[in-house]
Amino acid sequence: MLNKILVVGAGFSGAVIARMLGEKGFHVEVIDKRNHIAGNAFDFHNGHNILVHQYGPHLFHTNNQSVFAFLSRFTDWVDYQHRVKAILADGRLVTLPVNLDTKDQVGEDKVIDTFIRPYSEKMWGLKLEEISPDIINRVPIRNDQNELYFPDDQFQAMPKAGYTKMFENLLDHPNIHVRLETAFEKSMEADYMHVFNSMPIDEYYDYSLGPLPYRSLKFHHVDLPIPRIFPVCQVNFTNDGPYTRVVEWKNIPNSPQNEQFTSITYEEPCSYTENNNERFYPVKDASGKNRALFLQYKQIENPKTTFIGRLGQYVYLDMHQVVSSSIAIAEKFLKENTL
Ligand SMILES: Cc1cc2nc3c(=O)[nH]c(=O)nc-3n(C[C@H](O)[C@H](O)[C@H](O)COP(=O)(O)OP(=O)(O)OC[C@H]3O[C@@H](n4cnc5c(N)ncnc54)[C@H](O)[C@@H]3O)c2cc1C
Repeated sequence: MLNKILVVGAGFSGAVIARMLGEKGFHVEVIDKRNHIAGNAFDFHNGHNILVHQYGPHLFHTNNQSVFAFLSRFTDWVDYQHRVKAILADGRLVTLPVNLDTKDQVGEDKVIDTFIRPYSEKMWGLKLEEISPDIINRVPIRNDQNELYFPDDQFQAMPKAGYTKMFENLLDHPNIHVRLETAFEKSMEADYMHVFNSMPIDEYYDYSLGPLPYRSLKFHHVDLPIPRIFPVCQVNFTNDGPYTRVVEWKNIPNSPQNEQFTSITYEEPCSYTENNNERFYPVKDASGKNRALFLQYKQIENPKTTFIGRLGQYVYLDMHQVVSSSIAIAEKFLKENTL
């Protein structure tokens, strides 16, 4: 009991903490209700040997040297700079984020109504004015001809053998034991000195203060007997149909190349309650009421549990941010609890 730790969730937040504590001699049990590790970064080779990300495309990018160094212990990398296009009503592909060339092709006055409004309203199920400006401003409008989606990040690469393989290496330690298809139950806590929990915080507290809203995505996978469709991995829609974007997997260079087939996935946003309670994106509303509800949950006294990750902290975090946050949480715990 004194050195036993429970980690709920085998995604980035849980796996990084498990590894850091395991290396310091704690016995770490990692549980996940899904039948695989890697959380939402899970990828697999489909029937055409194309590497598909089951929960949408995960592009790794960061300026954080220590995050990149930490993960590099568990994977080699393939360089990849993400490029995105939007498809217009007449079939033309133009560059996103909007740059000078996009503005020339579409007209500067049409930028919001072509690219921002339809995508954001579908994505969040809200009117543009109800969405927090922080979300809208995540995708800049540029005054240059740069075509890169993440132009400022020093490290942009994909794990050479995929995310799942990287997680296998991360969790491969004699002090770490992983149990899949195991949902968290409160009665488990008694056996451990501390619990790091990446499940939704409102679910943990039985929704006692009310549910926190999330957006979800339905994924529609299609295999086609042609070599390739798009020049880039991601194409966003500008129409008001149900889909926000389509991803062509072989355009991510760590995928094996099949010259006969290509695999694409359409993303259809919806509420998590319409999708088996699959929670993907915390909803950051302009009024801030969702965040306020989260903070009420966070105030509940619970010294044995640390809530981690995007569900435990109710915030959208990129992978590098989750890794950075989990490294900090593990370091603090190790400082306060030596064996
Ligand atoms: C569609 C999409 C695209 C994304 N693209 C990018 C990208 O390009 N670049 C980037 O940096 N980031 C991207 N992200 C963000 C990335 O997915 C997150 O940063 C990362 O997955 C967060 O890790 P986590 O451990 O917090 O959560 P998760 O990966 O979701 O892991 C949490 C785990 O906890 C498990 N769990 C939940 N409840 C329970 C329970 N009650 N009992 C047991 N287990 C439980 C879940 O099954 C899950 O495996 C994207 C996210 C989405 C949704």
